[in-house]
Amino acid sequence: MLLYITLGLLVHFVFFASIFDIYFTSPLVHGMTPQFTPLPPPAKRLVLFVADGLRADKLFELDEDGNSRAPFIRNVIMNEGSWGISHTRVPTESRPGHVAMIAGFYEDVSAVAKGWKENPVEFDSLLNETRYTWSWGSPDIVTMFAKGDLGNHIFAHTYDASSEDFGAHDVTKLDTWVFDHVKEFFHAARNNQSLFSKVNEDKIVFFLHLLGIDTNGHAHRPSSREYSDNIKLVDKELKELESTIKGFYGNDGKTAFIFTADHGMTDWGSHGAGHPLETCTPFIAWGAGIRLPQKVSAQKFDDLYLQEWKLENWKRRDINQADVAPLMAALIGVPFPLNSVGIIPVDILNTSDLFKAESMFTNAVQILEQFKVKMTQKKEATLPFLFTPFKSLSDTKQANILRKARYYIKQKKYDEAVSLCQQLINLALRGLSYYHTYDRFFLAFHVVLGFVGWTSYASLLIIKSHCNLMRGVSTEVKSPSRLLPCTFVAIGVSVAFFLLIQARPWTYYLYCLLPWPIWHAVLREMPVIQGFVTLLSTFPPRRFLGYLLLFILGVEVLVLSFFHRYMLTAGLVAFAAWPFITPLWTRAKSISLSWIFFCLLLAVFPLMPVVGRQPDIFLVVGAGFLVLLLSLFVVTSIIKRKDSFINEELVLHLLQMLSTVFSMCVVYGTHNSLLRKQGLPLLNQIVSWMILASSFVMPLLSPPFLLDRLFSILLSSMSTYLLLSTGYEALFPIVLSCLMFVWIHMEQETLQQSVVSCKQKVSTIQFTCNTDAAQCRDLCLDDIRRAFFLVFFLVTAFFGTGNIASVNSFDPSSVYCFLTVFSPFKMGALIMWKILIPFVLVMCAFEAVQLTTQLSSKSLFLMVITISDIMALHFFFLIKDYGSWLDIGTSISHYVIVMSMTIFMVFLNCLAQVLTTKKLSLCGRPKSHII
Ligand SMILES: [Zn+2]
Ligand SMILES: [Zn+2]
Repeated sequence: MLLYITLGLLVHFVFFASIFDIYFTSPLVHGMTPQFTPLPPPAKRLVLFVADGLRADKLFELDEDGNSRAPFIRNVIMNEGSWGISHTRVPTESRPGHVAMIAGFYEDVSAVAKGWKENPVEFDSLLNETRYTWSWGSPDIVTMFAKGDLGNHIFAHTYDASSEDFGAHDVTKLDTWVFDHVKEFFHAARNNQSLFSKVNEDKIVFFLHLLGIDTNGHAHRPSSREYSDNIKLVDKELKELESTIKGFYGNDGKTAFIFTADHGMTDWGSHGAGHPLETCTPFIAWGAGIRLPQKVSAQKFDDLYLQEWKLENWKRRDINQADVAPLMAALIGVPFPLNSVGIIPVDILNTSDLFKAESMFTNAVQILEQFKVKMTQKKEATLPFLFTPFKSLSDTKQANILRKARYYIKQKKYDEAVSLCQQLINLALRGLSYYHTYDRFFLAFHVVLGFVGWTSYASLLIIKSHCNLMRGVSTEVKSPSRLLPCTFVAIGVSVAFFLLIQARPWTYYLYCLLPWPIWHAVLREMPVIQGFVTLLSTFPPRRFLGYLLLFILGVEVLVLSFFHRYMLTAGLVAFAAWPFITPLWTRAKSISLSWIFFCLLLAVFPLMPVVGRQPDIFLVVGAGFLVLLLSLFVVTSIIKRKDSFINEELVLHLLQMLSTVFSMCVVYGTHNSLLRKQGLPLLNQIVSWMILASSFVMPLLSPPFLLDRLFSILLSSMSTYLLLSTGYEALFPIVLSCLMFVWIHMEQETLQQSVVSCKQKVSTIQFTCNTDAAQCRDLCLDDIRRAFFLVFFLVTAFFGTGNIASVNSFDPSSVYCFLTVFSPFKMGALIMWKILIPFVLVMCAFEAVQLTTQLSSKSLFLMVITISDIMALHFFFLIKDYGSWLDIGTSISHYVIVMSMTIFMVFLNCLAQVLTTKKLSLCGRPKSHII
């Protein structure tokens, strides 16, 4: 058993990791030569303002009274500069956003997965190329670009990380801190000779990172007064600082200003995914080298922003976020960041046409350099006869286009030169992605092969060990053929050799070699396959087809429910009809009725809006009361029952009820305190953490009777769940548990129909450690249904209250009872636990189902894994690395969720086993002493 688990885990880890080698690999290459425009730049210095988490609409739109929130910015748009929307990509997080703006490339997902704080890959940035950079802001962001500081030319000024408190105080201080320090800096520069001369050099960047708006958005949502007030404040400070800087340099007209944001924010105060609210950020540039506003009578865009913002008459120029990097480089005349894929928006430049054409030419050469390096790398790593180059951009074609562009520039045909360079850039970018995805088919083929092999193997194992089909067949021991292992060893060796001569990374060996031993194991079970096929042929074909269709339909519903939550509702309604097609309806009416009731009740949840958008603390408190009511009911039934555990159990139940009451008080108190802006009271915080810690121990103290133990687990996890809830989702685990409770009884009933002998009352069954024993019976078709139910309930537990597939469900407000200072890891862990609680409840209930129906846990588990593997294979094919960024993000998280569901299930199964079978006794008294 342990061997299978380890093997299964290994296989799944490999499949899971494979997407990072197949779909999400680092796009960065090294070894290019820096490129810069050989003409004097229009600006000597550049001031970059990044308002973290600022949504485009909140900045540009007019408020209810028709006034602008940012009068200064609006004035710039109308009289001084160029404006537009900067489109960001997913993940809409601070670091990738800043990397795109300052280094000009879109950080790949794997880099994000490897660490949030610092980029694991060496990369070149604009700040690196400057003569001097001074930056102010949050330590997470500002220091990120100071890492490659070779000549000690990047100076970062940061505040303390602990001042990013979401709950209390006035977070606009994060912004005033920056502005005050910059003003002080210029003041000091007047009196400090060495600083003064540094500041007066060319190729200088001042980078101001303003975190206040993001923090206010998380804490109060973007529709709040706080968010708008913060925008007003930034606008006011911006105006002051602009005149300070201009004054400092004596209005020499050599300063360029850029104001933008790293990402936007959803209405409910989160970011990370690809919703337009998150990906549309403002972009405003003015000063040296930037074109003045252009009045137009009509402009065409797909959105209605222009009308909403009353800016129809000022030419809007949208850019991609990475375009900011080459623009800034061209403005101050430094080399373009080496890995930049941005295209300089030449039409916002207020320079000579020659400069525009030359900048575009530099841009094209710089991107072409990356293409060449990438091609060379791929070529060297592939056998010559297998290498298929990118046909649209051959060496001669590159040279031709470059020569022609040079010729146009010489002939002063600048527009032609610009458009030719644009063509070349597009080709080079396409070629880059061609080489980037060069190995994809080869790897994907092997992973799918492995997947299919593993699923078949798991199915064969189930059939072999738990079906009676093999027993009739006389399994005469044949002498094992030498041919099979030899063939597979030969295949393995040749694959390894093939990889070796191409010098592939070690992970490739894993993906490509793994399928062969699996398929060897499958083919070794040939007699089982033959037996199974004979069994199938005796089956009436129509019935067989019917079952098969039902199974496929079930899996498809599950897959679809990842995209549309209402599919879960459809599934649950179908579940509600289950008693009607079985004799259950006539035999056990009351249980059937409650099954129908709870199925339909649970079906309501997937139709509700995603969690966290409408916080409602009264629902949370109400859920608490419901739990208390339930426990009162259980306590009375325990008193009536009067068995040996009574004292101990009553004390435990009272304790658990007490912790539920505490939870309700803490939730209510914290909510009010945050509303009054008094932050999180320390007492509440301590109580919250204590409740969380105790919830792991409490269930272990209860007697191992099936229902008592399950109820104890529910009570404990509910007190934690209440603390992590913000609205209706607090009711979800209660309804889910009720349904699970009915499920256990339903399964007991179905079993009694088929196997009359095993009549045992559910309430007397005890959880024991060794469930796999002689009492296990053969598998039947009903068991496939049980496994399917489990997978369905697990998916419901996942998506019942929100679309966890979107990073958006990361709503910090749900952890405010535990901490309010931003700490991604602690917050992530708490939210993870919140997601897992319904999962654990389902697993524990399933543990009970296994016990009552005397199933072998191993084969059932294998069945569950087979079902989720079939789903995973679906999602593997559905992974996208192109198209809208929302699609990409969701497609990855779907695969990640299914794969981690499988991996998690092994751990959760262990956790559920511990929670249900282990018994601790209060005060160290062995239980036999209590009579
Ligand atoms: Zn940010
Ligand atoms: Zn943020």
